[in-house]
Amino acid sequence: MYTVITENNESAWADETGILYHFPKRYLKYLEPGTNIIYYKGVLKNKSFSKNRLSDAPHYFAFAKIGKTYPDKESIKNDFFATITEFIPFEEAVLAKDNSNYLETIPESRKSNYWRDGVRAIDADTYHLIISKVSPNKVSEQKKTYILDKIIENYQDSLESLSEGKKSKRYITTYERNPKYRKQAIAIHGNSCSACGFNFGDFYGEYAEGFIHIHHIVPVSEFEAPKTIDPETDLIPLCANCHSVVHRERDKTLSITELKYLIASRSKP
Ligand SMILES: [Zn+2]
Ligand SMILES: [Zn+2]
Repeated sequence: MYTVITENNESAWADETGILYHFPKRYLKYLEPGTNIIYYKGVLKNKSFSKNRLSDAPHYFAFAKIGKTYPDKESIKNDFFATITEFIPFEEAVLAKDNSNYLETIPESRKSNYWRDGVRAIDADTYHLIISKVSPNKVSEQKKTYILDKIIENYQDSLESLSEGKKSKRYITTYERNPKYRKQAIAIHGNSCSACGFNFGDFYGEYAEGFIHIHHIVPVSEFEAPKTIDPETDLIPLCANCHSVVHRERDKTLSITELKYLIASRSKP
């Protein structure tokens, strides 16, 4: 399945380029998990965004895949969001109109309103036509960087140390610090602690709104081979206290069930 998704500089949607895509329910059928997507930007309406774009003209600027889709719990209109994976931005714009022809095939019946749809299913030929306009050397360079990033992520290179007394402890994993996974995990799970329910914004007010730790459920030591992360099942929001407690012992990470049990067994009836 192949789909073009629009991301404009100014919009009502809470998109995060290469991380999350936010959309109305009617587009759900075009954004199934694993769908190959091409990112599109339409006509430049506000000149001040010119520097944030590869071109002022309507153009394609990246390809990626849909991870999974979730209902947006905050939305009253039944909107959805999708996690984005394998995001590879182009270095140069691929213009929507090549000479005088559009790369996308516009059916006769949609001539007047085709571009109104921000999410558009395209056929395999159109997908490959757009991809063929991307300079192959540049993409392979980007692919290399992308793969390198993956390796670094997977090998948990930059573990943060937290010293507690004399022993220095490996504490927060790369996955837990990675802003992409953080944003995806918070969109999926919310920003209250999954173990005790603590919410920083509710307790401290606006200043702490949205603050939360993201905990990686699979302990680092259990990693055998590089694997990709599923923010739905592998990551969970925890408050700073609960997060410290699950990592209290070097050789053991408490499960969320164990942590909840500790909390429940202490609370008064
Ligand atoms: Zn907590
Ligand atoms: Zn953790």
